Amino acid sequence: MSSQISSPDLSFPNPERAGEIEQLTPLVRRVLAANPSFMTGPGTNTYVVGTDPVLILDPGPDREDHLEAVTRAVDGREVKAIMLTHDHGDHSLGCDMFRAHFEVPIYSKRDTAGKRPADRPFPNGAVMVVGGARLRGVHTPGHAAEHLCFLLEEEHALFTGDHVMAGSTVVIAPPNGNMADYLGSLRRLIKMDLSHLYPGHGGVLPDPSCEMEGIIAHREARESSVLSALQAGDTKIADIVARVYADVQEFLHPVARYTVLAHLQKLEEEGRVRSVPDPDTAAEPPRVVQVGNTELPLREPPEMKASFSFI
Ligand SMILES: [Zn+2]
Repeated sequence: MSSQISSPDLSFPNPERAGEIEQLTPLVRRVLAANPSFMTGPGTNTYVVGTDPVLILDPGPDREDHLEAVTRAVDGREVKAIMLTHDHGDHSLGCDMFRAHFEVPIYSKRDTAGKRPADRPFPNGAVMVVGGARLRGVHTPGHAAEHLCFLLEEEHALFTGDHVMAGSTVVIAPPNGNMADYLGSLRRLIKMDLSHLYPGHGGVLPDPSCEMEGIIAHREARESSVLSALQAGDTKIADIVARVYADVQEFLHPVARYTVLAHLQKLEEEGRVRSVPDPDTAAEPPRVVQVGNTELPLREPPEMKASFSFI
């Protein structure tokens, strides 16, 4: 097998240059979608991987201009497959448009074969071979239960989707998100001794172990702050967020509630915290969360209204 290892381009994607094609290494091209926001940073990265044939990794949002830009990045070469890291809309809403245009199946961890006959499940450890590149699925539950990262074997680099982002903190939103799984997935990735990371948002990360150890340390610090808030007498998630996230802009607090719930559920699984459901809201239907002017497809589970305390 020929060696294609080279230093990737570390420049941060610039939202003003969405739609431009950036050749990061001989095997990897990046196209930034024009969907910047406080949740997506500069926007969603779509990657075109391989020489010929190629594969497309994460279609991104359903935008015609993005499909056109990715088609330019493909540059007439054969597209063998479309790979999907996870089901969140900023990565997956373009699936229908991309599938119809390139006429290839979408491969993802979730078995969508029942809904869409053209698509295929891609289990942990499965390998997709394209021109000059082998891509291996690495199941990384945590941000989403079905989340897949993809190891580019030739570079020993990992496409991380939303498991690791550059420049922003990953939200862990139960029930599909799980904090213990998230930290466990990070620890397994650190052991892989990767060379660099291609995140779903932001630029290439050149020091994977340092990056992921930093995320674990940040989560451990937040967890001990959550415990301190309980010690100080807070029992409701809104109060815990107000105390623990005093350093974060207030309009982001509705999102932080999910990560705090994820921390509390982890602590409950460990037998360190107990929760008492709120009887008045147990039957309330889940709501879509409003953050500033943006409606987020996060649904508030009834557990969000529970009371929490030390055991
Ligand atoms: Zn995302």
